[in-house]
Amino acid sequence: MTAITVIGCGPAAHRLVQRLHHHGHRGPVTVLGAEPEPAYNRALLVSALDGTLRARDLALAPFPPGVRVRTGTRAVAVDRRRRLVRGDDGTEHPYDVLVLATGSRAVLPRLTGAGGRFVPDVRVPRTLAGARPVGEGPVVVAGGGLRGVETAYALGRAGHHVTLVHPGAHPMHRLLDERAGALLTAALRDAGVALETGRRVTGVEPGRAVLDDGRSPAAGTLLLCTGARPDTALARAAGLAVRHGVVVDDRLRTSAPDVYALGDCAEHPGCQATLASAWEQADALARTLTGGDGRLRPARHVVRPRLSGLDVAVLGPPGALRRPDGGEQVVLSDPARGRYGRLVLHDGRVHAGVLVRLPRAVATVGQLYAADRPLPADRLALLLGTGGEYAESAELPDTAVVCQCNNVTKKALEQAWHSGARDLPAIAAATRATTGCGSCAALVRQVCGALAPT
Ligand SMILES: Cc1cc2nc3c(=O)[nH]c(=O)nc-3n(C[C@H](O)[C@H](O)[C@H](O)COP(=O)(O)OP(=O)(O)OC[C@H]3O[C@@H](n4cnc5c(N)ncnc54)[C@H](O)[C@@H]3O)c2cc1C
Repeated sequence: MTAITVIGCGPAAHRLVQRLHHHGHRGPVTVLGAEPEPAYNRALLVSALDGTLRARDLALAPFPPGVRVRTGTRAVAVDRRRRLVRGDDGTEHPYDVLVLATGSRAVLPRLTGAGGRFVPDVRVPRTLAGARPVGEGPVVVAGGGLRGVETAYALGRAGHHVTLVHPGAHPMHRLLDERAGALLTAALRDAGVALETGRRVTGVEPGRAVLDDGRSPAAGTLLLCTGARPDTALARAAGLAVRHGVVVDDRLRTSAPDVYALGDCAEHPGCQATLASAWEQADALARTLTGGDGRLRPARHVVRPRLSGLDVAVLGPPGALRRPDGGEQVVLSDPARGRYGRLVLHDGRVHAGVLVRLPRAVATVGQLYAADRPLPADRLALLLGTGGEYAESAELPDTAVVCQCNNVTKKALEQAWHSGARDLPAIAAATRATTGCGSCAALVRQVCGALAPT
């Protein structure tokens, strides 16, 4: 029986082990996780930080019986010749197949004054430990990329005094164009967030964060959301091929025999560092390791920032909106109502886009984008959600994927509803819809609402 050892106990490792069990693997499975907690959904950390969810609400389902899980154990070396992994607690773990699921690690700025007495509570909210609820007092968030914006917005809405410091011209400048950035800026301000764009946090001093222009906003807590990169240290030390991440092929094989990698630590051309990608890879690898066809066919995913009350969707590779490469463009701008949509088309198909406060368009354009299908001729009607075959969620085709993270179709939701799942928790339990990044909750409600007798 093949012994599988998995390094990392994040969402990718968790899904892999669940799917191995599902596909009938009954050999020994060992999971080593550096964090002390059992596997949890990292994508929900912002809700732990702002106090909406308790830490235990983020827990993923228990591992199947028989799986040996060692939390609080960091793998520090891989001996490929002897086929064993060494933990920082002195334990050794033999394997026939090794899977690296080490995720990503934060990229942190050098801060002057750090470590001094009475400086702000400086944290990286990428782990349960780092995302414990923030206390009273002003909060400075360093970094206005996707995670920094979600963090600042959630804390602002929860009533904290928040300053967001971002080096770009507007928040999320790598993903959004100027107009979408302006709408996001307005929404952040409405949520009570003060913005410092074109600035960086360079240090701390008692009760303050220090900016690169010498000013120092008050800070009881400084949250570092300054980016992340694949955690490849162990893979490198083990002699595996590493570029940005651990290089893998379509079967998630690394450059070494019987060593695989998946999730945020892996580098595959069609994949991004998202939950949906990690889970897709886990599903594929579980098939491979149980003798099935596990060739990875990465789906195209829509990025839905977690900004409660502000519907934003980003389609296409990062930077594509800023460099549209001459494709046909469709633009809808309605500043009075804060709505904006821009699609960049190649051969009549969506190559990139951004949609702000256009939820119907997100549902419909998202489907066409995911399936790489041509857009209907009346593009503006599509953006407005007033025309075309998919104008309402009720008119989505049965095959439309409503929950991207868990690949749950409209038909699966309807089946769950007809089997008695009549509210969101019941639908989530039956289908797993909404349990990933959670951004599909409104659409799931809409699909189920359309089934309820009026
Ligand atoms: C705050 C935040 C919000 C996010 N929100 C979303 C979202 O809304 N939608 C979305 O799609 N994605 C989101 N993401 C991204 C998503 O969480 C990741 O894509 C996903 O967690 C990747 O899973 P993973 O298992 O590959 O890596 P990780 O979740 O990073 O887990 C890797 C685990 O491996 C452990 N590890 C590393 N090295 C070792 C070692 N040597 N020995 C033992 N253990 C080790 C780490 O401690 C970690 O626990 C978010 C991420 C963050 C940080």
